[in-house]
Amino acid sequence: MFKLINEIVDGYEPSAFELTCILKLKEDEAEYLFNKAYEVKKNTSNNEIHLRAIIEFSNYCRCKCYYCGLCCQNQNLKRYRMTPDEIIENAIEANNAGYKTVVLQSGEDMYYTEDMISYIIKEIKKNCNMAITLSVGERSYEEYKKWRNDGADRFLMKHETSNEALYNMYHPHSSFKKRMKCLRWLSDLGYQVGSGFMIGLPKTGEEDYAKDILLLKSLKVHMAGIGPFIPHKDTNLKEGKMGSAFLTMKAVALTRILIKDIQLPATTAFNVVSKSCCNQNSKLKNESSIKALACSGESEENNENVKKIFRSGANVLMKKVEPYKYRKLYEIYPRDEDKIKSISEERREVERLIYSMGFNISSRMDL
Ligand code: SF4
Repeated sequence: MFKLINEIVDGYEPSAFELTCILKLKEDEAEYLFNKAYEVKKNTSNNEIHLRAIIEFSNYCRCKCYYCGLCCQNQNLKRYRMTPDEIIENAIEANNAGYKTVVLQSGEDMYYTEDMISYIIKEIKKNCNMAITLSVGERSYEEYKKWRNDGADRFLMKHETSNEALYNMYHPHSSFKKRMKCLRWLSDLGYQVGSGFMIGLPKTGEEDYAKDILLLKSLKVHMAGIGPFIPHKDTNLKEGKMGSAFLTMKAVALTRILIKDIQLPATTAFNVVSKSCCNQNSKLKNESSIKALACSGESEENNENVKKIFRSGANVLMKKVEPYKYRKLYEIYPRDEDKIKSISEERREVERLIYSMGFNISSRMDL
């Protein structure tokens, strides 16, 4: 298996079966994969981490995704929308705190018309030196085109699973074909496109994740969010089992060695899952690293988990920056409350955490 990993690093194009075998590696063998992914990351990205500010500006959504706490059938969620000017002010504050990219994310909320999003993009571009990533779901070709012309740089839209039948079952309001069509439109329009998938989504396994990784390669995406499934109590998949942090790390590492220059975020979902593993098994904690990271002000488990995923090839960290009153309401899966701090304070803490792990912070806007 080590030979196969080396060949992939050297440019060999593996089959889905070969990727599946790597995803099934046991802990002692997987270390080799993690070390190789870390090497590739260091060689391709100058050992830099990209910090992104994310503004989750609306938790209204017209969709019925089986796994998501924001789905339109969830009556237990208090819904919110930020006004366009509130979003713009929030983005300016994030830019002043040092962020070079803002991710504007919401449910599929048609309240925000083409013109409203256009206004938000233009105002942010006028007032900030910052790349804009949109994550607003499936819209028309004309809307994507307008927003690209207004200055939006990137678009995130996960494919969630490459298993078409399952995709169609878990997304009864849409279809796998439609999602692929949207992803191709975005690429054709010149967006840097991000996609991604879930580990542990019920009825999926290593064979599916191998195909997910190959799909990312064939779509030529710039970024991929690979995170574990976390059951949410108000969804159809509430009885599902949480995805594995270890398998997520293997999928991230494998994606890194196959698509070397891809941007791979350390997802919040990964942090939630690995924290729960750490709580069950305190042996997973490494005392010396925890001491080194304590200065960050974040919890020890959080820091250790972020470090683990960065050592497996991830190189992007997204930090929520919307006002605290909204953060708890944007709950795709359950997570802990944050302590209240300013955007600049939070940014400085994240910077200290990243430096303490031995990484640099990217100042580039184009990646
Ligand atoms: S995953 Fe996205 S599109 Fe689906 S219900 Fe949640 S917010 Fe809406």
